Amino acid sequence: MRNVDLHCHSTVSDGLLSPADLVSLAVKGGVDVLALTDHDDVSGLEEAHSAAQAKGIRLIPGVEVSVSWDRLTVHIVGLNIDPKHPRLVDGLNIVRGGRLQRAQKMGDSLAAAGIPGAFEGAMSFASSDQMVGRTHFARFLVEQGKARNVSAVFKRYLVKGKPGYVSHRWAELGEAISWIRAAGGIAVLAHPGRYKIGSTGLRALMADFKDLGGEAIEVVTGNHTQVQVHRFADYAQHYGLMASRGSDYHGPGESFTLPGRLAALPSICKPVWQAWT
Ligand code: AMP
Ligand code: MN
Ligand code: MN
Ligand code: MN
Repeated sequence: MRNVDLHCHSTVSDGLLSPADLVSLAVKGGVDVLALTDHDDVSGLEEAHSAAQAKGIRLIPGVEVSVSWDRLTVHIVGLNIDPKHPRLVDGLNIVRGGRLQRAQKMGDSLAAAGIPGAFEGAMSFASSDQMVGRTHFARFLVEQGKARNVSAVFKRYLVKGKPGYVSHRWAELGEAISWIRAAGGIAVLAHPGRYKIGSTGLRALMADFKDLGGEAIEVVTGNHTQVQVHRFADYAQHYGLMASRGSDYHGPGESFTLPGRLAALPSICKPVWQAWT
């Protein structure tokens, strides 16, 4: 059985390891097919590809696109994309373009709550101005002693109704799927168990996703319980979607599911990687 992990982050977005170090860690964990899926950015793929080639594993070029659907932020992973395709490149460029302004507003919101310097602090953790995000703010807030760790930060800050949260309009669902498909990729609904929408909302999301050309959902992810794994395997079958498996690894000390250390897909699933391995 192949060990496939199709969702991971590097320092290009909000991961802690360089693309090459991420590949090394995945190899140590026994992964033989890895996708690098940085948020809204494909610039780590070349380094990851060279590292994977040197280590003898397969690298699937990927990206995780930030999308606004209804009043929710959802993430769409694009797998096996051509990272140079102009429609994808242009689309991701627009999505990244909003991040800097949003970060300035997040900094203002935290300053108003008595935490000055957060914008500059977050920027010092980001590897580019365009790719600054909530995780970089969270790392700054941990450094400032505002919370024990990144996941504790998210309970007190940076989420709806809390200081540092700024609502933001990302790509439309149909746009993100069309960029991915134009680039020859498969669109995958990421970590469906994480959206706070109840089962009616989830069904509406999956139906829209399927109608707009989405082809797979993450059934096994770093934060799904076994109950969720089986629930989403059933949903995948019901909506005629393929199934993906990915850790959503961000880095040591922050993600507790290491690359490749995941349950197998339930046997009713059609693996999204079947076509390429
Ligand atoms: P952004 O794209 O800037 O809104 O940041 C989204 C990222 O924040 C996600 O990809 C996660 O890496 C991180 N994140 C969101 N919610 C949490 C949470 N509750 N605990 C830890 N990290 C989180
Ligand atoms: Mn992230
Ligand atoms: Mn995500
Ligand atoms: Mn992710």
